[in-house]
Amino acid sequence: MVDKRSSDSNIDKKQSSAESAAAAVHSEDEPCRLCKEIKPLCRSHIIPEFFYKPMYDDQRRLLKISTAPEERTLFKQKGITEKLLCFECEQHINEFEKVTKRLFFDNFDYLETAHPNMIRIRNLDYDKVKLFQMSLLWRAGIANDLFFENVNLGPHEERIRKMLLESNPGEPFDYGCIIVGLRTEEKIGFDVILKPERGRIGPYNCYQFILGGCLWLFVVSNQAKHFQGNDRYLQADGTWLMESVPAKEVPLVIKMVQGLRKGGKLINPYKTLRDGTTE
Ligand SMILES: [Zn+2]
Repeated sequence: MVDKRSSDSNIDKKQSSAESAAAAVHSEDEPCRLCKEIKPLCRSHIIPEFFYKPMYDDQRRLLKISTAPEERTLFKQKGITEKLLCFECEQHINEFEKVTKRLFFDNFDYLETAHPNMIRIRNLDYDKVKLFQMSLLWRAGIANDLFFENVNLGPHEERIRKMLLESNPGEPFDYGCIIVGLRTEEKIGFDVILKPERGRIGPYNCYQFILGGCLWLFVVSNQAKHFQGNDRYLQADGTWLMESVPAKEVPLVIKMVQGLRKGGKLINPYKTLRDGTTE
């Protein structure tokens, strides 16, 4: 997991991890973020645990490396969780996750395309995979942890909440997501999760996530229907075009490598790790 504590980003609505941990003590009294009912809250994953699994070492530890030179490298016992959802809502979202997990970790059905590095995944459950995509974006948007500080959805947050609650996947262009597989020279999976970033492509607001060996590009705009590349959103017929590109050519990855190199953590990621440093 690679984090970057940027000084210029908007951290207005996000709290520090310490503050959010303190808030969690009283969170039993707070409403569930999805159904808004006051119920005991679960410690919900923002990114599903199955995306962290390939990153665990043989002692079931994750290595958290920051590109900020002053920040120490840590072992973590599990991915980022926060008290956000009641049990029922956790189960509701889990239904979307199960289908997506199969897509990433079991075989999936696809066709070759005329483009040598592009396949067309098919026979997907449009509703569930689409709702999963939106749940990932939405959870990152409501999370307090600084890892997700760049994801601020504004009015879209409430719109997505209602769609998730009603199991309404919307049109393919509603928070459409483009997926790009990341290839490495060793042909092994690109097993890192990077801090999501916000950017613009032309007039469109976009969020980029890297997880599951892929780059996930969400187009968050009322005009997303007209986005050039809208044929690469998950389609209502259950097909999803996926291009693959060398990981080293992806700007977010290049930035990560530069940051780690600057902090002296590229050759030895353990450089700033002290014995037994676990979070
Ligand atoms: Zn709930």
